[in-house]
Amino acid sequence: MTENRNLPTSTVYGPVQSWRVGKSLGIDLLYVNSICSFRCVYCQLGKINDHTLGRKIYAPTKKVIADLKASLWQEADVITFSGNGEPTLAANLGEVIQQIKAFTGKPIVVLTNATTLNNPAVRNDLQGADKIFCKLDAATDRTLQLIDRPVAGITIRSIVEGIKTLRKEYAGHLAIQTMLLPVNENEAIALAALLNEIRPDEVQLNTPSRPVPREWIFESRGNHEASFDNAAKLRMPTQEKLAEIEQQLRQLTGLEIITKRS
Ligand code: SF4
Repeated sequence: MTENRNLPTSTVYGPVQSWRVGKSLGIDLLYVNSICSFRCVYCQLGKINDHTLGRKIYAPTKKVIADLKASLWQEADVITFSGNGEPTLAANLGEVIQQIKAFTGKPIVVLTNATTLNNPAVRNDLQGADKIFCKLDAATDRTLQLIDRPVAGITIRSIVEGIKTLRKEYAGHLAIQTMLLPVNENEAIALAALLNEIRPDEVQLNTPSRPVPREWIFESRGNHEASFDNAAKLRMPTQEKLAEIEQQLRQLTGLEIITKRS
């Protein structure tokens, strides 16, 4: 079993290069553990230790701001909230976004799995973000269970309704991120129907190109090229299948579709 011998002391990491946003400084409001309402089969953190939908403060805002000031934040194009799990589970998300924005003046991006968006407090916290990337891997509850393995009570309908409500209230850039695996590669028509309900600004298609550690590896937070033993490699759709899905989604929705090619 892999152990985390050196737990992180900083809530800020990077900047790291991201295929979507350029040089990104990561903010991890959950740095004490891996904490998420999903347990995605492809999660680069490895194991999610705290599987929860509850919100609380894990890193005091004062510490996060001190960590930011000690970082190379000037080198970043954007500040990204992601880290060791689902960032909207941090109850001080809105406060930290406001303070970091005021201090750095940099664009703020939040990556969310969209399970908390039916909570008005979460949607309010997200108003300070310039871009929000919402995960939508599945178009059916069956694939949601197979890929994302949510806490009890989360359904595709609850996720889509949450994103739609955010879409109505939020004036910034809203993207949908979909991880494509063999299990959902034939869901393009159902996914297109959900995308037509949401009407995001952009759809980002991705594949699980990186090995998945079996235990929580905090160095995997963000976009690090961390290396570790005891990792599993997942099967991916073929390049032809990816091109077919991209084309199908574009035709059925007319949306901007971008695919990460590994
Ligand atoms: S990939 Fe993201 S949403 Fe999925 S389990 Fe990991 S942290 Fe949670």
